[in-house]
Amino acid sequence: AASVIDGKAAAALIDSHVKAGVAQLESRLGRAPCLAVVLVGEDPASQVYVRNKVKRTEAAGMRSIEIRRDARIEEAELVGIVEALNADDAVDGILVQMPLPGHIDPYRVVETIDPDKDVDGLTATSAGRLVQGAPGLRPCTPSGCVWLARQALGELSGKSVVVIGRSILVGKPAAFLFLEQNCTVMLSHSRTLDLPEHCARADIVVAAAGRPEMVKGAWIKEGACVLDVGINRVDAPEKGEGGTKLVGDVAYDEAARRAGFITPVPGGIGPMTIAFLLVNTLKAAAARAGLAQPEAIRGL
Ligand code: NAD
Repeated sequence: AASVIDGKAAAALIDSHVKAGVAQLESRLGRAPCLAVVLVGEDPASQVYVRNKVKRTEAAGMRSIEIRRDARIEEAELVGIVEALNADDAVDGILVQMPLPGHIDPYRVVETIDPDKDVDGLTATSAGRLVQGAPGLRPCTPSGCVWLARQALGELSGKSVVVIGRSILVGKPAAFLFLEQNCTVMLSHSRTLDLPEHCARADIVVAAAGRPEMVKGAWIKEGACVLDVGINRVDAPEKGEGGTKLVGDVAYDEAARRAGFITPVPGGIGPMTIAFLLVNTLKAAAARAGLAQPEAIRGL
């Protein structure tokens, strides 16, 4: 049976490195590193994410700015908020919580973010830096995947990776981050044929399709490292009338019988995302000030 990767414990470890790094940087910077989070509307999941981001930013010793606006805000006003945060020298990281209301173009808003403050790694500039192998801020969730895979398997050079899903947020950057580790990467998506056969050869499977339990145990190579990014709320009649639960994109029990390592949902990849958001904020603060990365987060 697989060893279960404890994403909460891993995230707590990274948070503690960030906290130490903040202490190392703060005196040279003359202020605490600062993350600004912009939240539009009342989406309940977004409220929870933002609350957790603010809490962990502050727990790591960084300053947090939270900007909340009504869902009826106009695009131009939201762009103006991001521009003001770009111009504020005391702000190191800017994050606009997705999804945005339908009348706002998320690309326009994201492209407004100064790439040097783009702690989600979502701007075209950040994506270009990743593809070119240039220094820059990398998307948080896939960074968490690579870090956990390295903890589980050690050196990743030459490993074969199947990434399931090609979103800008997860799948595509995951493919390039594993490529950066000298893995051989197969980037699959909803039109991919013979996905089970591809998975059967993979040392690492990154499941990010948003399809509950689509990856079956029989697809997994013995001993593989299975990283389940999916977060899907499904009916759970066993919890009584109207009950629901969270499941990943992997049929966990089956996959755990064949995998060497597996992340649970919840408590696997999820907590790692905020950990790397904090890492990115600290990196951005150092880079913007022309200072070396704090010792405590080297290698992260
Ligand atoms: P998305 O909907 O933008 O992209 C899904 C991708 O999966 C698409 O590229 C699509 O081609 C592919 N896909 C769909 N069906 C497929 C199939 N049957 N076979 C192969 N590929 C298929 O989603 P996203 O934003 O990348 O998120 C994916 C999942 O990860 C969601 O469940 C989301 O909630 C979760 N997520 C978790 C975190 C975290 O912190 N753990 C962060 C971001 C997203």
